[in-house]
Amino acid sequence: MKLRHLEMTLQHVCGFLRPQAALEQYQTPAPLAARLLYHALMKGDIEGKTVLDLGCGTGVLAIGAALLGAASVIGVDIDERALAVARENAVLLGTEVRFLAVDVREGGCRERIGACDTVVMNPPFGAQKAHADRPFIDLALSIAPVTYSIFNAGSAQFIETYTAQRAKIDEKVGGIFPMRRTFPFHTQDVQEIEVEILRLIRKQ
Ligand code: SAH
Repeated sequence: MKLRHLEMTLQHVCGFLRPQAALEQYQTPAPLAARLLYHALMKGDIEGKTVLDLGCGTGVLAIGAALLGAASVIGVDIDERALAVARENAVLLGTEVRFLAVDVREGGCRERIGACDTVVMNPPFGAQKAHADRPFIDLALSIAPVTYSIFNAGSAQFIETYTAQRAKIDEKVGGIFPMRRTFPFHTQDVQEIEVEILRLIRKQ
């Protein structure tokens, strides 16, 4: 599947019905999701691989990974209502994804989910609750040798320091997250947030 086709297909993924600010529920727009996934595909991290989407929301990254030929895909999220939409999205787009209700902060989730080859994620950036992204990073690195994650632009330095003993950032791709007015504290119809997609490689 070509990048443009992936992007057009992912436009059909339904978003959060009632997004919750406390969980930083922002659906990744199709062009950004397609960009992350296609990049991972080109690096050999999707096709034939077991892929995990942490904080999958309504499933755009998980479903995209399945469309690009992942051997199996799991999406996990704390929010059952988002998972219900994700399940419908997966069926709508003719993909098979296992969706599980998991709080990434809980002990034992690594065992529940099992090991996999690649993590793709757009975790909370920590705008509502400081460091909300940390349990996602910790779990991703404990589960898979390769992680692709979207962060606020300028986060690479912090992530590098935070993961220094465990991983190294081997790539950084810039992107734009056009954030639509979602919550009462948003003042503009669309705010373009600069983001970066990092590829983290676990140290042996
Ligand atoms: N990955 C999706 C959603 C991004 S929004 C997409 O790209 O469209 C961040 C997601 O993280 C939300 O769906 C939210 O419910 C989930 N989340 C927040 N805290 C969580 C936690 N502690 N455990 C699991 N998921 C969590």
